[in-house]
Amino acid sequence: MKAPPFRYARPRTLDAALKLLADEGDGARLLAGGQSLVPALNMRLLEPALLIDINGLSELSGIAEIAGGICVGALTRHAALGASAIVARRAPLLTAAVPFIAHEAIRNRGTFGGSLAQADPAAELPACVVALDAQLEIAGPRGRRRVAARDFFKGVYETALAHDEILVAAEIPAQRGATLFLELARRQGDYAIAGLAGWAAVQQDRIAEARLVFFGTDIRAVEAKAASVALATSLDAAVAALDSDLTPVADLNASAAMKRHLAGALLRRACAAALTRAA
Ligand SMILES: Cc1cc2nc3c(=O)[nH]c(=O)nc-3n(C[C@H](O)[C@H](O)[C@H](O)COP(=O)(O)OP(=O)(O)OC[C@H]3O[C@@H](n4cnc5c(N)ncnc54)[C@H](O)[C@@H]3O)c2cc1C
Repeated sequence: MKAPPFRYARPRTLDAALKLLADEGDGARLLAGGQSLVPALNMRLLEPALLIDINGLSELSGIAEIAGGICVGALTRHAALGASAIVARRAPLLTAAVPFIAHEAIRNRGTFGGSLAQADPAAELPACVVALDAQLEIAGPRGRRRVAARDFFKGVYETALAHDEILVAAEIPAQRGATLFLELARRQGDYAIAGLAGWAAVQQDRIAEARLVFFGTDIRAVEAKAASVALATSLDAAVAALDSDLTPVADLNASAAMKRHLAGALLRRACAAALTRAA
């Protein structure tokens, strides 16, 4: 199928893009990499009156090292994120996750901000920014505001963004432990059936501290706080604690019970790998 008719604008500044959004009301959509939006248009799942192409907004581009971490612009392509030496040094969880996002052609166009704004519950980057405790910077008609990544994702394709706001960047504190990243998908490049993103600090052959975020299981990326605490007792206790952390939802790939089982298996594998690497 082909996309329904729409008007197209390519503003040069963030202020001009915000004005277009405010003037059009919720009939407008931002176009970043187009890797989720264009298929949705072609399938006629969306019929926006106006597409606002934000690819010319230089304010949204770039990766920079800042005090205590990094700042990643919303328009950063997945491929650039994966290839960045700054990201590899300060937030290696992102470097580990990028190769699991779709395929090379999609990674060359798809953007960091587009993935966060799309909020697919099975996507890798939302889970990573929650695990890394990122702060998301949002611009809107009332000025700028910051939202913690853990409060940004509300549900399936649902975020804290209002229709007249633009995600500008994420400030990401330097990662505190060794990377934990694993996902199960039907084929390389597919969205995850279940995935785990996080980090673990290993001391004297045990995991002293960890941040565990599961994706593909629930309606959004979920931090498994009880399991992180229970890791201090045992891995079995941590896997059991996932019962209180997760509310798995069945999809075309797996039942809720299967997703719960896979989350436990991922946790066991990720912790074993972290301990082996540290030994
Ligand atoms: C075949 C295929 C396989 C894929 N597999 C995966 C996968 O395994 N894992 C994965 O994570 N993703 C996957 N994707 C999606 C891909 O990662 C997209 O790049 C991403 O979801 C959206 O980024 P985008 O820049 O293309 O956004 P777009 O498609 O341009 O926009 C997506 C949505 O976000 C909004 N938006 C975009 N930028 C902003 C912003 N700065 N502020 C506010 N709103 C904004 C748009 O208005 C739109 O509603 C796949 C896509 C395809 C086509």
